[in-house]
Amino acid sequence: MAENTTLPIIVLFRQDLRLKDNPALTYACQTGRPIIPLYILDDETPGKWKMGGASRWWLHHSLVSLDQRLKEKGSQLFFYRGSTSEIIAHLIQKYQVAAIFWNRCYEPYARQLEQTLMELLPSSQSFNASLLFEPWEILNKQNEPFKIYTPFWNRCMEVACIDEPLPEPRHIITKTIKSEPLDSWKLLPTHPDWSIGLKKHWQVGEKAATKKLNHFISVSLNTYERDRDIPSLDATSSLSPHLHFGEISPKQIFHATKDIPHSSKFLSEVGWREFSYYQLYYFPQLPDQPWRHEFSKFPWEMNSTFLKKWQQGKTGYPLVDAGMRQLWQTGGMHNRVRMICASFLVKDLFIPWQEGAKWFWDTLVDADLANNSASWQWVAGCGFDAAPFFRIFNPFLQSEKFDPEGTYIKRWVPELAKMPKALLHKPWKISAELQCDYPHPIVSHEECRKRALEAFKQIKRW
Ligand SMILES: Cc1cc2nc3c(=O)[nH]c(=O)nc-3n(C[C@H](O)[C@H](O)[C@H](O)COP(=O)(O)OP(=O)(O)OC[C@H]3O[C@@H](n4cnc5c(N)ncnc54)[C@H](O)[C@@H]3O)c2cc1C
Repeated sequence: MAENTTLPIIVLFRQDLRLKDNPALTYACQTGRPIIPLYILDDETPGKWKMGGASRWWLHHSLVSLDQRLKEKGSQLFFYRGSTSEIIAHLIQKYQVAAIFWNRCYEPYARQLEQTLMELLPSSQSFNASLLFEPWEILNKQNEPFKIYTPFWNRCMEVACIDEPLPEPRHIITKTIKSEPLDSWKLLPTHPDWSIGLKKHWQVGEKAATKKLNHFISVSLNTYERDRDIPSLDATSSLSPHLHFGEISPKQIFHATKDIPHSSKFLSEVGWREFSYYQLYYFPQLPDQPWRHEFSKFPWEMNSTFLKKWQQGKTGYPLVDAGMRQLWQTGGMHNRVRMICASFLVKDLFIPWQEGAKWFWDTLVDADLANNSASWQWVAGCGFDAAPFFRIFNPFLQSEKFDPEGTYIKRWVPELAKMPKALLHKPWKISAELQCDYPHPIVSHEECRKRALEAFKQIKRW
C-alpha cells in the first residue's frame, strides 16, 4: 500500500527555540510531509523542576519570537498546556500523526518522556541539537565516563568532528491545528511586575542571540581570557539564557569562533556546559544528591533568616549583596560573583547548597538543571572535579581583587555609592559620621571559616 505522505509530523519544540541549526525541524521538512510546530507548557512532567519565574518571563518572549520566525516561513507555532505525553497521544489520534520529531534534552524527566513518546509512535526520531557531543560519545580509555573536566574536554577536542550548523528551512508546509492563546498562560508577572529590570537588560529570541554572538566576537572575544573575571566589565558573552532556551546552538558558537585566535578559553567554558550535561546524564540525581557521598552527612544548618538575607542581598558583605541584587533585578549574575555568593551561602552560612540552587532556579533567566546543579555541587565541594571544600572564598579578598574600585558594588548597592574606596569592601569599619543604611555583616567570616573546616574534617573521617 502506498504511504500517505499527507499525514503530518509533529515537531516538538522544547529547549531549541530557533529555526537555524534545528535538525528536528529541518529533517521533518525534508520528508515533504506537513509539519505541526508545537510547544507544550508542561508543568507536570518536570515535577519540582518546573520552570521558575524568571525562566517563564524569558520563555514568553522567546515563544513570541519563534512564532514570528515561523510566520516568516509561512508557518506558525501551536501552543498547548499540560502533560506532554497526554497531549501528544491526543494529537496523534486526532490528526493521524505520522511521527514526532524532537531534539533531545538530558534532564532525567525529559529522557523518560522521550522514551514514552517513542513508545507512543515508534516511527518518531530524535536528534542532537543542544550539545557539541553526546555524553555517550566521550569515554576514557577504559570505556568509562570521565570524572575530571580537563581530560574530558581534551578528549572532546580530539574527537572534534563537529558538523557545520544546518541552515534554516526555506519554507515550512504546515498542518494547522487548534491552539491555545499564549497570553492565556500568564507567563509574565503582573502584580507586582518584577520584570522591569529584565526587560531593560535582555533582548530575547533567535535573532537577538545571533546579534549578541556577533557583538561578542567583534568586541570582547579577544580580551575574554584577561577580563572574564571582572564583574564590572561587559567582558563575557551573556549567551547563557540563549543557549539554555536553544535560541542559538553550541555548534553555531563553536563554528563561529573556533578559528579566531584566543578563542580557546571561551570555548573551554562552553566545554564546562558540556561537562555539566555529561554529569547530569551519568548521575541523574545531580540536582538533589551530592556526587561525593560523604557530603550527605555534612552537618548543614537550615536558617531561614540568613537564607532570606542572602536572597535579598542584605548580608553586610558588599560583593555578595551586589551579586544577589543584580540577580534579583536582572535575572543574571556574573560567573565570578555566582561563585562567591554560592560559597558564602554554603561555607559561611552553612545552608545546604540545594537551597541556593532552588533560589537560582527561580530567579535566573539562564536557570538550567545541568549547569545550575553541577555548578552548585562544584562550589560546595561535593561534585565531579569540584573546588576542594577547604578552599573557602574570602569575600573581602575576592572583592578587593576582582572589583578593586568598587564599580560593580556601587552599581548594585547604591547605599555604598559614596563610600570611600578604602572602606568599600569592609564598610562596617566606617566612622560614625559616614554611617549609612548598609547592614552590618550577619556573620563573622573568620569564625564561619573555622567552623566549616572543622565540619569538613568530621565528614572526611566517616
Ligand atoms: C552557583 C552557580 C550556578 C550557576 N547556574 C547556572 C545556570 O543555571 N545556568 C547556566 O547557564 N550557567 C550557570 N552557571 C555557570 C555560569 O555562571 C554561567 O553560565 C555564566 O555566568 C553565563 O555567562 P556568559 O553567558 O556571559 O558566559 P561566558 O563566559 O560567555 O561563557 C559562554 C558559555 O559557556 C557556558 N559556561 C560558562 N561558564 C560555565 C560554567 N562555569 N559552567 C557551565 N557552563 C558555563 C555558558 O553556557 C555560557 O553562556 C552557574 C555558576 C555558578 C557558580
